[in-house]
Amino acid sequence: MMPRCNLHTHTKLCDGANTAEEMVLGAIDVGCEALGFSGHSPLEGEDWCMSEADMAVYISEVLRLREKYRDRIEIYLGLEYDTYSSCDTSPFDYIIGSLHYVKKNGVMIPVDLDADLLESEIEKHYGGDFYAFARDYYEGVSSVYERTGCDIVGHFDLLAKFNGGGRFFDERSPKYREYALDALNALLSEDLIFEINTGAISRGYRREPYPADFILRHIAERGGRVMLNSDSHAADTLFCYFSEAVEYARECGVRELVVMKNGEFTSVKI
Ligand SMILES: [Zn+2]
Ligand SMILES: [Zn+2]
Repeated sequence: MMPRCNLHTHTKLCDGANTAEEMVLGAIDVGCEALGFSGHSPLEGEDWCMSEADMAVYISEVLRLREKYRDRIEIYLGLEYDTYSSCDTSPFDYIIGSLHYVKKNGVMIPVDLDADLLESEIEKHYGGDFYAFARDYYEGVSSVYERTGCDIVGHFDLLAKFNGGGRFFDERSPKYREYALDALNALLSEDLIFEINTGAISRGYRREPYPADFILRHIAERGGRVMLNSDSHAADTLFCYFSEAVEYARECGVRELVVMKNGEFTSVKI
């Protein structure tokens, strides 16, 4: 069964293409039962994030839409909380904790902004050694809960975004897998929810969702909780690749997916 819930979406108030209301209408159109908004938390000087003022508008708009459409869809107010942000999480129904930067030599290296930029930054700060960068990335990821108090871990292996065709690294490398699994084990001990994130597919960067299968299998073996999210930046990609992702989850040993229902995280069999 494909869950009709999606808690990872963006609007015009950060880097999405549509208003929150357009997203709600798009969700109702495709039979979505629970839609959660997860605008980017404020980060100084970053226009893909909400400003403090945007955030106030965001909160009141999502709450307005929750009332307006309450007979047709469940709407939740979430936040994608970057580990380098600092904000009050009390207004939110849930938090997605995400790492978008690796800080090295006092420089913030954006993990998912641009492939050529990433390559040149790794050249500059790591002598071109992607695995050394991956070690720092996963060290950051392992502290995502500590830094954000999240319920859901966002796009666990985001650093693979531009790795189509193995451009940056070999995902089968034991060294790479050790870094990833160390971070995963640290987060699994906190009983967090991990997302299968299809966002890079709808935007044409990848053909597979995050996380890679060795990661998802490990989560399933350890009895970790998993949910399906599209990290959607537009109203027409809310369920992008969802049915394929359910198959993928099953192949990796996942038997249940978490959804939000009546304000609670609950599991449904797949
Ligand atoms: Zn993100
Ligand atoms: Zn996102």
